[in-house]
Amino acid sequence: MFLKAEDRKTIKDLAAKIRNEYNLTSLPIDIAKILNDKNIKFFTANLDNINGYELSGLIEKKDNGEIRIIVNNQHQDTRNVFTVAHELGHYFLGDLNGKKRVVSLRGGSKNKKERAADFFAAELLMPEDLIRETIEKLFFPTLQEMANKFRVSRAAMKYRLDFLGVPYYG
Ligand SMILES: [Zn+2]
Repeated sequence: MFLKAEDRKTIKDLAAKIRNEYNLTSLPIDIAKILNDKNIKFFTANLDNINGYELSGLIEKKDNGEIRIIVNNQHQDTRNVFTVAHELGHYFLGDLNGKKRVVSLRGGSKNKKERAADFFAAELLMPEDLIRETIEKLFFPTLQEMANKFRVSRAAMKYRLDFLGVPYYG
């Protein structure tokens, strides 16, 4: 994690505020509520080769003001939930201001805005309080059980638990 502590704090507080505003307190976090309220349209498409780049997703503002999120239909559903949350990160962090489009490449080295959007997505979908509460409830859950509960990929959950210093099995 290469974001500064103060940046992480800002993003964590923003994600908490949004979860609070939309009453996103139970699992899995239903980000469709945010899309509906903000009137953000959601699409899937094959984004495996866009001018030679493999994209996870993108967010764009059309000339008529409509905002769309498009995710790669070649990727797993759980991965795409994270991508939608990531694109919402770009939206709430103001990355779309004055721009038509922000694209998110799959993997590779990530600039600060990409890392910030990833962190926002993790905070939105896997908030620390719900992680700790769920671990206690399930009593020694496996990584896969945790991933299922939060409807995220195993990789995303592993990354999150490692970041939080929470132990897990499997
Ligand atoms: Zn991105």
